[in-house]
Amino acid sequence: MSETNVQTLKNFIGGVWVESSSTTFAPVYNPATEEILAHVPLSDAADLELAVQNSREAFKVWSKVAVPRRARILFRYQQLLVEKWEELAKLITLENGKSYTEAYGEVQRGIECVEFAAGAPTLMMGKQLPDIATNIESGMFRYPIGVVGGITPFNFPMMVPCWMFPLAIACGNTFILKPSERTPLLANRLAELMQEAGLPDGVLNIVHGAHEVVNGLLEHKDVKAISFVGSQPVAEYVYRSGAAHGKRVQALAGAKNHSIVMPDADIENAVQQIIGAAFGSAGERCMACSVVVAVGEIGDELVQKLVEAANNLTIGNGLDPNTFLGPVIRGPHKERTVTYIETGEKEGAILLRDGRRDPEAEGKGYFVGPTIFDRVSTEMKIWQDEIFAPVLSIARVNTLEEAIELANQSDFANGACLYTDSAKAIREFRENMDAGMLGVNVGVPAPMAFFPFSGWKKSFYGDLHANGADGVEFYTRKKMITSRFL
Ligand code: NAD
Repeated sequence: MSETNVQTLKNFIGGVWVESSSTTFAPVYNPATEEILAHVPLSDAADLELAVQNSREAFKVWSKVAVPRRARILFRYQQLLVEKWEELAKLITLENGKSYTEAYGEVQRGIECVEFAAGAPTLMMGKQLPDIATNIESGMFRYPIGVVGGITPFNFPMMVPCWMFPLAIACGNTFILKPSERTPLLANRLAELMQEAGLPDGVLNIVHGAHEVVNGLLEHKDVKAISFVGSQPVAEYVYRSGAAHGKRVQALAGAKNHSIVMPDADIENAVQQIIGAAFGSAGERCMACSVVVAVGEIGDELVQKLVEAANNLTIGNGLDPNTFLGPVIRGPHKERTVTYIETGEKEGAILLRDGRRDPEAEGKGYFVGPTIFDRVSTEMKIWQDEIFAPVLSIARVNTLEEAIELANQSDFANGACLYTDSAKAIREFRENMDAGMLGVNVGVPAPMAFFPFSGWKKSFYGDLHANGADGVEFYTRKKMITSRFL
């Protein structure tokens, strides 16, 4: 594709593809080749205003559509997503860089959210008590809240938007999605398919852009709630600003996830799971394993096997079926990763495998090979910060208690994993680990759509998490009616 015939993306507002009124655009790259795939508009206040007007008008009708009718559209959407599974997975790989296998799995995760949302008739039910006093009854009814804004990150172009708009819409809200400006293509395809499934105009809108659209959503009086997923500083800002403007906000943030490996662990399983969790999706997952804590005598053998396994990973374009490790998202992110590797060396961690030296890291595309540091400690920046790249730190301790204490010093608390055969250790881990999503002998314990995505501490701002019953609570408000029968 030559740059002259590269498409310029449009916003999707009121069921129509409209050109942004902004004159500012950003290139969308294929991170494996550095080729420009499209130009995305960095939309302005006028674009957002048009989307809010359309969403507000559509809400008046959509919120009154019978819940089973709303659900039926989601059933059709689910079928379309299944039909287009491969096309969607390829698009994810193209704009995000993750391997096709990972992208295929991501589409599945998105579809599962739609399946959950299609249960709206049950999810939207209220409660009654016929006798709160003599001849007096009380009932609770559930209603949508209005126009909802969704702001999403680059690392899951399908799954994260699907945490938001299918459920919000099923609950009777209208939705304005501001996808990541680095991976906007898939979002447009999701909207096209939603329209094909029969969603009325104005119920789902897409406004492309960056902070200007985000600030507009946060400040607009007609936007009633904000769902955000992204890095920690932006999540905290979105939470504070959204709340200051009177909105309900759920803001899912960054992470630093620890995997504790006990001496009795099945080492082959632990290595396989950790390698997948640390280097899959180029480490750009909020549930990535970024620190291994080796307990006791298993340390040396574990480290040796992790390095061997990392040496055997195939690095390359995610569309190549043999590829395990694709590129990171952009050149500056690669440079930031390289700076962290330099920092780790200066801080005195032992660099066992250096992803800067892989041949793919020298050529086109934003590749960094798997990188492993041993003897990492909590004073080091490489332990403290979310690097969000294929860089794995290993720390050594003597007991499970020390391992949990080390992991709990992190400001982040999204996920944590334990590898063991001991029920006692599992219980100790579950009861004492500060993290919202735990895994036992599992590398990426991301909950399915019917459970909450449940980060703690600086990994989450808000009270109601994404997905599951929390998601339904977040996207609805309740009305109580108390009646006396004379
Ligand atoms: P990011 O914070 O850079 O961007 C997220 C969204 O916020 C994008 O739509 C972006 O346009 C917008 N944004 C960025 N800077 C902004 C600013 N200054 N003001 C207003 N809006 C701004 O995040 P990213 O790099 O796209 O995604 C990676 C991050 O997301 C990682 O930290 C990862 O851990 C996190 N993440 C968390 C979860 C979770 O469930 N906790 C899931 C996926 C990703």
